Amino acid sequence: MSKVPPPQLSVEERRAALEKAKSSRQERAAVKRAIASGEISIFDATNDPRESIRRMKVIDLLSALPGVGKSRASLIMERRNISLTRRIGGLGHLQLKALGKELALSKGDLARGKLIVISGPGGVGKSTITSALRGDPRFWISVSATTREPRVGERDGVDYFFHSHAKFMELIERGEFLEWAEFAGNLYGTPRSPVEEWRNLGKHVILEIEIAGARQIRAHEPKATLVFIAPPSWDELVRRLTSRGTDSPERRAARLALAEQEMAAASEFDTVLVNESVEGLIAELVSLATA
Ligand code: 5GP
Repeated sequence: MSKVPPPQLSVEERRAALEKAKSSRQERAAVKRAIASGEISIFDATNDPRESIRRMKVIDLLSALPGVGKSRASLIMERRNISLTRRIGGLGHLQLKALGKELALSKGDLARGKLIVISGPGGVGKSTITSALRGDPRFWISVSATTREPRVGERDGVDYFFHSHAKFMELIERGEFLEWAEFAGNLYGTPRSPVEEWRNLGKHVILEIEIAGARQIRAHEPKATLVFIAPPSWDELVRRLTSRGTDSPERRAARLALAEQEMAAASEFDTVLVNESVEGLIAELVSLATA
């Protein structure tokens, strides 16, 4: 492969290029200082027609804001789906509006992430939805603790924290759960501190929990968003719940009775989303979270 040789610059041209780079740096530093002192807003900067400013990175602009800093700035950008390498000149109108909203909301500080509870009957596809959201940097999916045995392929600390009954009771005593409930003979609970920490970092936290736990969250965190995932129809849910050939007739009847009870709780939730397609549901959840 032949390499393209670097352009041959004369001494004069090289000096001019260095001068230009220096004055661009000075212009960018002056804009950052003006933002830090509150003399101009980031929107003034995005309207600056100078090439040196249009080529400035958005992250550098946001980080210059008082009380924001690099890590908060990158969270704001990730949450708004704006690439960290984006330059001011490449910001779209909608992205600019979104950033403005975020900054207005947080008054220069980062808005706390929302708490979103996803619940619904067994077999409705809740865990498929949370798995699909796992790669999205705007969200953090809570890892629950449980006393049930790990299923094949499940990993401790990833799918659940698997605890003995005694250990779980000790964690309840110490107030370490945001909520906890018994489901099908096992205990399940949401560890409190990671939820707080991630929300403080601006991530929207998702809890995928059963109905009794959702009710506790409603009681303690009235601002949480409670989402009920419903099947396209009752018949479809029956089909999904009974298609596991391994269940005994008694077990199948118990699963259906439980699903019926769970479906009756839908009206207690803020939003009911019908699981017609995973992609559609994800889009609805993202718009709920970022609304
Ligand atoms: P599985 O054992 O099939 O993973 O979960 C059984 C049920 O427990 C599901 O409805 C699931 O949403 C719920 N669950 C999982 N983690 C928690 C939790 O931390 N708290 C509560 N209340 N329910 C949970």
